[in-house]
Amino acid sequence: MKVAIVGAGIGGLALAQGLLAAGVEVRVYERDPSPVFRRQGYRIHIGPVGEEALAAVLPEAVRRRVIETATHPGDLVAGFSPQLDQLFEQIYPVGGPDSVTSIDRYAFRRAVMTGLDEVIAFGKEFASYEVVGAGVEVRFADGTTEVADVLVGADGVGSRVRAQLLPAFKVHDSGVRCIYGKIPMAEAVRAMAPAAFLRGLCFVNEGVGVGVAFAPVLFRTPPAEYGDYLMAVMTGTASQLGLSDAELFASSASELWSLVRKQVADWHPVVGELVDAADASAAFPIALRTCTSVKPWPDGPVVLLGDAVHPMLPSAGAGANTALWDAARLTSALTGATTLASYRDEMLAHGMAAVTESLENGRRMFDLRIE
Ligand SMILES: Cc1cc2nc3c(=O)[nH]c(=O)nc-3n(C[C@H](O)[C@H](O)[C@H](O)COP(=O)(O)OP(=O)(O)OC[C@H]3O[C@@H](n4cnc5c(N)ncnc54)[C@H](O)[C@@H]3O)c2cc1C
Repeated sequence: MKVAIVGAGIGGLALAQGLLAAGVEVRVYERDPSPVFRRQGYRIHIGPVGEEALAAVLPEAVRRRVIETATHPGDLVAGFSPQLDQLFEQIYPVGGPDSVTSIDRYAFRRAVMTGLDEVIAFGKEFASYEVVGAGVEVRFADGTTEVADVLVGADGVGSRVRAQLLPAFKVHDSGVRCIYGKIPMAEAVRAMAPAAFLRGLCFVNEGVGVGVAFAPVLFRTPPAEYGDYLMAVMTGTASQLGLSDAELFASSASELWSLVRKQVADWHPVVGELVDAADASAAFPIALRTCTSVKPWPDGPVVLLGDAVHPMLPSAGAGANTALWDAARLTSALTGATTLASYRDEMLAHGMAAVTESLENGRRMFDLRIE
Protein backbone atom coordinates (compact mmCIF):
# COMPACT_ATOMS: atom_id res chain seq x y z
CA MET A 1 0.00 0.00 0.00
CA LYS A 2 1.42 3.38 -1.02
CA VAL A 3 -0.42 6.50 0.12
CA ALA A 4 0.14 9.96 -1.43
CA ILE A 5 -0.95 12.86 0.78
CA VAL A 6 -1.32 16.32 -0.79
CA GLY A 7 -0.71 19.00 1.86
CA ALA A 8 1.63 19.06 4.87
CA GLY A 9 -0.86 20.95 7.01
CA ILE A 10 -2.21 19.90 10.39
CA GLY A 11 -4.27 16.96 9.09
CA GLY A 12 -1.87 15.71 6.41
CA LEU A 13 1.09 15.59 8.82
CA ALA A 14 -0.89 13.78 11.52
CA LEU A 15 -2.05 11.22 8.96
CA ALA A 16 1.51 10.72 7.72
CA GLN A 17 2.67 10.02 11.28
CA GLY A 18 -0.13 7.52 11.88
CA LEU A 19 0.54 5.66 8.61
CA LEU A 20 4.31 5.64 9.02
CA ALA A 21 3.98 4.23 12.53
CA ALA A 22 1.79 1.44 11.08
CA GLY A 23 4.42 0.62 8.45
CA VAL A 24 2.49 2.03 5.46
CA GLU A 25 4.56 3.59 2.65
CA VAL A 26 3.60 7.25 2.58
CA ARG A 27 4.68 10.44 0.74
CA VAL A 28 3.51 13.98 1.55
CA TYR A 29 3.56 16.59 -1.22
CA GLU A 30 3.56 20.20 -0.01
CA ARG A 31 3.30 23.27 -2.25
CA ASP A 32 5.30 25.54 0.07
CA PRO A 33 9.03 25.46 -0.70
CA SER A 34 9.94 24.85 2.96
CA PRO A 35 8.37 24.56 6.41
CA VAL A 36 9.43 28.15 7.21
CA PHE A 37 8.02 29.63 4.03
CA ARG A 38 5.44 32.08 5.40
CA ARG A 39 4.30 33.57 8.63
CA GLN A 40 2.02 30.92 10.00
CA GLY A 41 2.48 31.38 13.71
CA TYR A 42 -0.83 31.97 15.35
CA ARG A 43 -2.69 30.33 18.16
CA ILE A 44 -4.94 27.35 17.58
CA HIS A 45 -7.16 25.98 20.32
CA ILE A 46 -6.92 22.20 20.78
CA GLY A 47 -9.73 20.43 22.61
CA PRO A 48 -10.30 16.84 23.75
CA VAL A 49 -11.15 15.75 20.16
CA GLY A 50 -7.74 16.92 18.89
CA GLU A 51 -5.85 15.64 21.94
CA GLU A 52 -7.37 12.18 21.58
CA ALA A 53 -6.57 12.04 17.87
CA LEU A 54 -2.96 13.13 18.49
CA ALA A 55 -2.56 10.39 21.10
CA ALA A 56 -3.91 7.87 18.56
CA VAL A 57 -1.63 8.75 15.63
CA LEU A 58 1.63 10.13 17.04
CA PRO A 59 4.50 7.92 18.13
CA GLU A 60 5.32 8.66 21.79
CA ALA A 61 8.50 10.65 21.00
CA VAL A 62 6.61 12.93 18.58
CA ARG A 63 3.71 13.33 21.01
CA ARG A 64 6.23 14.42 23.70
CA ARG A 65 7.62 16.98 21.27
CA VAL A 66 4.11 18.35 20.62
CA ILE A 67 3.46 18.60 24.37
CA GLU A 68 6.80 20.38 24.91
CA THR A 69 6.15 22.94 22.15
CA ALA A 70 2.48 23.54 23.08
CA THR A 71 1.48 26.50 25.21
CA HIS A 72 0.94 26.40 28.95
CA PRO A 73 -2.71 25.34 29.21
CA GLY A 74 -5.33 28.10 29.40
CA ASP A 75 -8.67 27.58 31.13
CA LEU A 76 -10.68 30.72 30.32
CA VAL A 77 -12.95 32.22 27.65
CA ALA A 78 -14.22 35.67 28.58
CA GLY A 79 -15.93 38.70 27.04
CA PHE A 80 -15.32 42.36 27.78
CA SER A 81 -16.85 45.68 26.74
CA PRO A 82 -14.54 48.15 24.96
CA GLN A 83 -14.06 49.80 28.38
CA LEU A 84 -12.95 46.39 29.71
CA ASP A 85 -15.98 45.70 31.89
CA GLN A 86 -16.23 41.93 32.06
CA LEU A 87 -19.42 40.68 30.37
CA PHE A 88 -19.04 36.92 30.80
CA GLU A 89 -16.56 34.23 31.64
CA GLN A 90 -16.41 30.49 31.20
CA ILE A 91 -13.79 28.40 32.97
CA TYR A 92 -12.79 25.06 31.51
CA PRO A 93 -11.16 22.27 33.51
CA VAL A 94 -7.55 21.67 32.45
CA GLY A 95 -6.25 18.09 32.39
CA GLY A 96 -2.93 16.90 33.77
CA PRO A 97 0.57 18.38 33.24
CA ASP A 98 0.67 17.03 29.65
CA SER A 99 -2.58 18.71 28.69
CA VAL A 100 -2.54 20.54 25.31
CA THR A 101 -5.18 23.27 25.07
CA SER A 102 -3.56 25.50 22.48
CA ILE A 103 -0.67 25.44 20.06
CA ASP A 104 1.20 27.86 17.84
CA ARG A 105 0.54 26.63 14.30
CA TYR A 106 4.17 26.94 13.18
CA ALA A 107 5.67 25.31 16.31
CA PHE A 108 3.07 22.54 16.13
CA ARG A 109 3.74 21.75 12.47
CA ARG A 110 7.48 21.64 13.14
CA ALA A 111 6.91 19.23 16.04
CA VAL A 112 4.60 16.96 14.02
CA MET A 113 7.17 16.92 11.18
CA THR A 114 9.61 15.12 13.51
CA GLY A 115 10.90 12.01 11.73
CA LEU A 116 9.13 12.87 8.45
CA ASP A 117 12.15 14.37 6.60
CA GLU A 118 12.34 11.49 4.17
CA VAL A 119 8.60 11.46 3.66
CA ILE A 120 7.74 15.11 2.86
CA ALA A 121 8.53 16.68 -0.51
CA PHE A 122 8.40 20.51 -0.31
CA GLY A 123 7.88 22.73 -3.35
CA LYS A 124 5.68 20.04 -4.89
CA GLU A 125 2.40 21.55 -6.04
CA PHE A 126 -0.39 19.11 -6.87
CA ALA A 127 -2.08 19.83 -10.20
CA SER A 128 -4.45 16.93 -11.00
CA TYR A 129 -4.92 13.17 -10.76
CA GLU A 130 -6.17 10.30 -12.88
CA VAL A 131 -7.57 7.03 -11.58
CA VAL A 132 -5.61 4.27 -13.31
CA GLY A 133 -6.76 0.69 -12.66
CA ALA A 134 -7.09 0.23 -8.89
CA GLY A 135 -4.65 3.10 -8.16
CA VAL A 136 -4.14 6.74 -9.01
CA GLU A 137 -1.60 8.77 -10.96
CA VAL A 138 -0.80 12.07 -9.22
CA ARG A 139 0.37 14.98 -11.40
CA PHE A 140 2.32 17.97 -10.20
CA ALA A 141 2.67 21.53 -11.46
CA ASP A 142 6.34 20.86 -12.30
CA GLY A 143 5.25 18.21 -14.83
CA THR A 144 6.31 15.19 -12.75
CA THR A 145 3.98 12.33 -11.77
CA GLU A 146 3.80 9.71 -9.01
CA VAL A 147 1.67 6.59 -8.74
CA ALA A 148 -0.06 5.59 -5.49
CA ASP A 149 -2.72 3.19 -4.30
CA VAL A 150 -4.57 5.96 -2.47
CA LEU A 151 -4.50 9.75 -2.88
CA VAL A 152 -5.50 11.87 0.14
CA GLY A 153 -6.46 15.49 -0.49
CA ALA A 154 -5.34 17.26 2.69
CA ASP A 155 -4.76 20.50 0.80
CA GLY A 156 -6.93 22.86 2.81
CA VAL A 157 -9.86 25.13 2.00
CA GLY A 158 -8.81 25.81 -1.61
CA SER A 159 -8.23 22.08 -2.28
CA ARG A 160 -7.50 21.18 -5.89
CA VAL A 161 -8.00 17.49 -5.12
CA ARG A 162 -11.54 18.32 -3.99
CA ALA A 163 -12.12 20.54 -7.05
CA GLN A 164 -11.55 17.46 -9.22
CA LEU A 165 -13.30 14.90 -6.97
CA LEU A 166 -16.32 17.05 -6.03
CA PRO A 167 -16.60 19.74 -8.72
CA ALA A 168 -19.98 21.00 -7.41
CA PHE A 169 -18.62 21.63 -3.86
CA LYS A 170 -19.22 25.21 -2.77
CA VAL A 171 -17.08 27.25 -0.39
CA HIS A 172 -19.10 30.21 0.93
CA ASP A 173 -17.59 33.55 1.83
CA SER A 174 -18.98 34.57 5.24
CA GLY A 175 -18.31 38.26 4.56
CA VAL A 176 -16.25 38.40 7.78
CA ARG A 177 -12.63 39.48 7.58
CA CYS A 178 -9.93 39.14 10.24
CA ILE A 179 -6.70 40.99 10.80
CA TYR A 180 -4.35 38.78 12.80
CA GLY A 181 -1.48 40.25 14.79
CA LYS A 182 1.12 39.40 17.40
CA ILE A 183 2.09 41.33 20.50
CA PRO A 184 5.48 40.02 21.68
CA MET A 185 5.27 39.24 25.39
CA ALA A 186 7.73 41.84 26.67
CA GLU A 187 7.78 42.47 30.45
CA ALA A 188 5.80 45.71 29.91
CA VAL A 189 3.08 43.81 28.03
CA ARG A 190 2.91 41.13 30.71
CA ALA A 191 2.56 43.86 33.35
CA MET A 192 -0.11 45.92 31.57
CA ALA A 193 -2.30 43.12 30.15
CA PRO A 194 -5.46 42.37 32.15
CA ALA A 195 -4.93 39.07 34.03
CA ALA A 196 -7.67 37.37 31.96
CA PHE A 197 -5.79 38.14 28.69
CA LEU A 198 -2.89 36.03 30.00
CA ARG A 199 -5.18 33.20 30.99
CA GLY A 200 -7.31 32.45 27.92
CA LEU A 201 -9.28 33.75 24.95
CA CYS A 202 -10.81 37.18 25.64
CA PHE A 203 -13.17 38.98 23.26
CA VAL A 204 -13.44 42.76 23.43
CA ASN A 205 -16.53 43.75 21.47
CA GLU A 206 -18.32 46.87 20.40
CA GLY A 207 -21.27 44.83 19.18
CA VAL A 208 -22.01 42.04 16.73
CA GLY A 209 -19.33 41.75 14.08
CA VAL A 210 -16.67 44.19 15.27
CA GLY A 211 -14.28 43.16 17.96
CA VAL A 212 -10.72 42.40 18.91
CA ALA A 213 -9.89 39.10 20.59
CA PHE A 214 -6.74 38.50 22.63
CA ALA A 215 -5.24 35.14 23.60
CA PRO A 216 -1.88 34.25 25.14
CA VAL A 217 0.72 32.00 23.57
CA LEU A 218 3.01 31.19 26.49
CA PHE A 219 5.21 28.37 25.25
CA ARG A 220 6.39 25.46 27.35
CA THR A 221 9.39 25.55 25.00
CA PRO A 222 9.38 28.32 22.36
CA PRO A 223 10.48 27.72 18.76
CA ALA A 224 13.95 29.02 17.80
CA GLU A 225 12.46 31.85 15.73
CA TYR A 226 10.32 33.70 18.32
CA GLY A 227 9.06 33.68 21.89
CA ASP A 228 5.85 34.15 23.86
CA TYR A 229 3.22 36.48 22.42
CA LEU A 230 -0.32 37.69 22.82
CA MET A 231 -2.36 36.96 19.72
CA ALA A 232 -4.69 39.83 18.77
CA VAL A 233 -7.37 39.42 16.08
CA MET A 234 -9.76 42.07 14.81
CA THR A 235 -12.93 40.81 13.11
CA GLY A 236 -15.54 42.68 11.12
CA THR A 237 -17.21 42.78 7.73
CA ALA A 238 -15.56 44.71 4.90
CA SER A 239 -17.99 47.59 5.42
CA GLN A 240 -17.40 47.63 9.19
CA LEU A 241 -13.66 47.69 8.58
CA GLY A 242 -14.23 50.49 6.06
CA LEU A 243 -12.40 48.99 3.09
CA SER A 244 -13.00 46.67 0.17
CA ASP A 245 -11.36 43.26 -0.17
CA ALA A 246 -9.12 44.64 -2.91
CA GLU A 247 -7.88 47.30 -0.48
CA LEU A 248 -7.68 44.92 2.52
CA PHE A 249 -5.62 42.28 0.75
CA ALA A 250 -3.36 44.88 -0.93
CA SER A 251 -2.61 46.62 2.40
CA SER A 252 0.82 46.32 3.97
CA ALA A 253 1.10 44.73 7.42
CA SER A 254 1.60 48.13 9.06
CA GLU A 255 -1.41 49.59 7.20
CA LEU A 256 -3.51 46.68 8.47
CA TRP A 257 -2.31 47.21 12.00
CA SER A 258 -3.15 50.92 11.87
CA LEU A 259 -6.77 49.89 11.12
CA VAL A 260 -6.79 47.94 14.38
CA ARG A 261 -5.29 50.94 16.18
CA LYS A 262 -8.05 53.15 14.73
CA GLN A 263 -10.75 50.71 15.81
CA VAL A 264 -9.62 50.74 19.46
CA ALA A 265 -8.85 54.47 19.66
CA ASP A 266 -11.79 55.19 22.01
CA TRP A 267 -11.55 51.93 23.93
CA HIS A 268 -9.94 51.46 27.33
CA PRO A 269 -6.38 52.89 27.12
CA VAL A 270 -4.82 49.51 28.00
CA VAL A 271 -6.27 48.02 24.80
CA GLY A 272 -4.64 50.79 22.75
CA GLU A 273 -1.32 50.31 24.58
CA LEU A 274 -1.39 46.58 23.87
CA VAL A 275 -2.14 47.21 20.20
CA ASP A 276 0.72 49.73 20.10
CA ALA A 277 3.08 47.10 21.53
CA ALA A 278 2.41 44.70 18.61
CA ASP A 279 4.90 43.67 15.96
CA ALA A 280 3.04 45.55 13.19
CA SER A 281 5.04 43.71 10.51
CA ALA A 282 3.40 40.43 11.59
CA ALA A 283 -0.18 41.48 10.73
CA PHE A 284 -2.04 39.60 8.01
CA PRO A 285 -5.66 39.51 6.73
CA ILE A 286 -7.92 36.46 6.38
CA ALA A 287 -11.36 35.99 4.80
CA LEU A 288 -13.52 33.59 6.82
CA ARG A 289 -15.01 30.88 4.63
CA THR A 290 -17.16 27.83 5.25
CA CYS A 291 -19.08 25.10 3.51
CA THR A 292 -22.73 24.51 4.36
CA SER A 293 -23.13 21.00 2.96
CA VAL A 294 -21.07 18.27 1.34
CA LYS A 295 -22.05 15.27 -0.74
CA PRO A 296 -20.20 11.94 -0.41
CA TRP A 297 -17.66 11.20 -3.09
CA PRO A 298 -17.82 7.95 -5.11
CA ASP A 299 -15.94 4.88 -3.81
CA GLY A 300 -12.42 4.82 -5.18
CA PRO A 301 -8.77 5.54 -4.40
CA VAL A 302 -9.18 9.32 -3.81
CA VAL A 303 -10.29 10.64 -0.41
CA LEU A 304 -10.30 13.97 1.44
CA LEU A 305 -9.64 15.18 4.97
CA GLY A 306 -9.72 18.38 7.00
CA ASP A 307 -10.46 21.80 5.52
CA ALA A 308 -10.37 20.30 2.03
CA VAL A 309 -13.74 18.67 2.71
CA HIS A 310 -15.29 20.58 5.62
CA PRO A 311 -13.92 24.14 5.73
CA MET A 312 -15.55 25.95 8.66
CA LEU A 313 -15.56 29.26 10.49
CA PRO A 314 -13.09 29.45 13.40
CA SER A 315 -15.96 30.34 15.75
CA ALA A 316 -16.06 26.92 17.45
CA GLY A 317 -12.25 26.46 17.48
CA ALA A 318 -12.90 23.16 15.72
CA GLY A 319 -11.24 23.13 12.25
CA ALA A 320 -7.85 21.79 13.32
CA ASN A 321 -9.39 19.44 15.88
CA THR A 322 -11.67 17.99 13.21
CA ALA A 323 -8.76 17.62 10.76
CA LEU A 324 -6.89 15.66 13.46
CA TRP A 325 -9.97 13.52 14.12
CA ASP A 326 -10.12 12.77 10.37
CA ALA A 327 -6.42 11.84 10.35
CA ALA A 328 -6.91 9.32 13.18
CA ARG A 329 -9.99 7.77 11.52
CA LEU A 330 -8.33 7.64 8.10
CA THR A 331 -5.26 5.97 9.64
CA SER A 332 -7.59 3.21 10.90
CA ALA A 333 -9.22 2.88 7.48
CA LEU A 334 -5.91 2.72 5.59
CA THR A 335 -4.45 0.18 7.99
CA GLY A 336 -7.39 -2.18 7.60
CA ALA A 337 -9.22 -1.58 10.90
CA THR A 338 -12.13 0.00 8.98
CA THR A 339 -12.80 0.84 5.31
CA LEU A 340 -12.42 3.97 3.20
CA ALA A 341 -16.20 4.04 2.69
CA SER A 342 -16.89 3.94 6.44
CA TYR A 343 -14.21 6.65 6.98
CA ARG A 344 -15.97 8.85 4.42
CA ASP A 345 -19.43 8.39 5.91
CA GLU A 346 -18.35 8.82 9.55
CA MET A 347 -16.12 11.78 8.68
CA LEU A 348 -18.83 13.60 6.74
CA ALA A 349 -21.27 13.29 9.66
CA HIS A 350 -18.66 14.36 12.25
CA GLY A 351 -17.24 17.16 10.06
CA MET A 352 -20.65 18.60 9.19
CA ALA A 353 -21.64 18.66 12.89
CA ALA A 354 -18.58 20.85 13.52
CA VAL A 355 -19.40 23.04 10.48
CA THR A 356 -22.95 23.55 11.81
CA GLU A 357 -21.77 24.40 15.33
CA SER A 358 -19.23 26.87 13.91
CA LEU A 359 -21.95 28.49 11.78
CA GLU A 360 -24.31 28.78 14.75
CA ASN A 361 -21.58 30.38 16.87
CA GLY A 362 -20.65 32.58 13.91
CA ARG A 363 -24.23 33.83 13.55
CA ARG A 364 -24.16 34.91 17.22
CA MET A 365 -20.73 36.54 16.92
CA PHE A 366 -20.62 38.06 13.44
CA ASP A 367 -22.81 39.77 10.90
CA LEU A 368 -22.65 36.77 8.56
CA ARG A 369 -23.53 37.06 4.85
CA ILE A 370 -23.66 33.50 3.64
CA GLU A 371 -25.52 33.20 0.34
C1 LIG B 1 -6.20 32.28 11.72
C2 LIG B 1 -6.82 30.96 11.98
C3 LIG B 1 -7.12 30.54 13.29
C4 LIG B 1 -7.63 29.28 13.53
N1 LIG B 1 -7.90 28.87 14.80
C5 LIG B 1 -8.32 27.61 15.03
C6 LIG B 1 -8.54 27.12 16.37
O1 LIG B 1 -8.36 27.84 17.36
N2 LIG B 1 -8.91 25.80 16.54
C7 LIG B 1 -9.12 24.96 15.48
O2 LIG B 1 -9.45 23.77 15.69
N3 LIG B 1 -8.94 25.41 14.21
C8 LIG B 1 -8.55 26.69 13.97
N4 LIG B 1 -8.35 27.13 12.69
C9 LIG B 1 -8.60 26.21 11.58
C10 LIG B 1 -7.41 25.34 11.31
O3 LIG B 1 -6.23 26.07 11.11
C11 LIG B 1 -7.71 24.50 10.08
O4 LIG B 1 -8.97 23.88 10.21
C12 LIG B 1 -6.64 23.43 9.90
O5 LIG B 1 -5.40 24.04 9.63
C13 LIG B 1 -7.04 22.49 8.78
O6 LIG B 1 -5.99 21.57 8.60
P1 LIG B 1 -5.79 20.92 7.18
O7 LIG B 1 -4.61 19.99 7.34
O8 LIG B 1 -7.05 20.39 6.67
O9 LIG B 1 -5.40 22.11 6.20
P2 LIG B 1 -4.18 23.20 6.28
O10 LIG B 1 -3.65 23.18 7.67
O11 LIG B 1 -4.75 24.40 5.69
O12 LIG B 1 -3.09 22.53 5.34
C14 LIG B 1 -3.25 22.46 3.94
C15 LIG B 1 -1.85 22.33 3.34
O13 LIG B 1 -1.97 22.02 1.97
C16 LIG B 1 -1.01 22.75 1.23
N5 LIG B 1 -1.51 22.85 -0.16
C17 LIG B 1 -2.56 23.56 -0.61
N6 LIG B 1 -2.71 23.39 -1.94
C18 LIG B 1 -1.73 22.55 -2.33
C19 LIG B 1 -1.37 21.99 -3.60
N7 LIG B 1 -2.05 22.27 -4.74
N8 LIG B 1 -0.30 21.14 -3.66
C20 LIG B 1 0.40 20.84 -2.52
N9 LIG B 1 0.09 21.36 -1.29
C21 LIG B 1 -0.96 22.19 -1.20
C22 LIG B 1 -0.97 24.09 1.96
O14 LIG B 1 0.21 24.81 1.67
C23 LIG B 1 -1.05 23.64 3.42
O15 LIG B 1 0.23 23.40 3.96
C24 LIG B 1 -7.87 28.42 12.44
C25 LIG B 1 -7.58 28.84 11.14
C26 LIG B 1 -7.07 30.10 10.91
C27 LIG B 1 -6.74 30.52 9.49
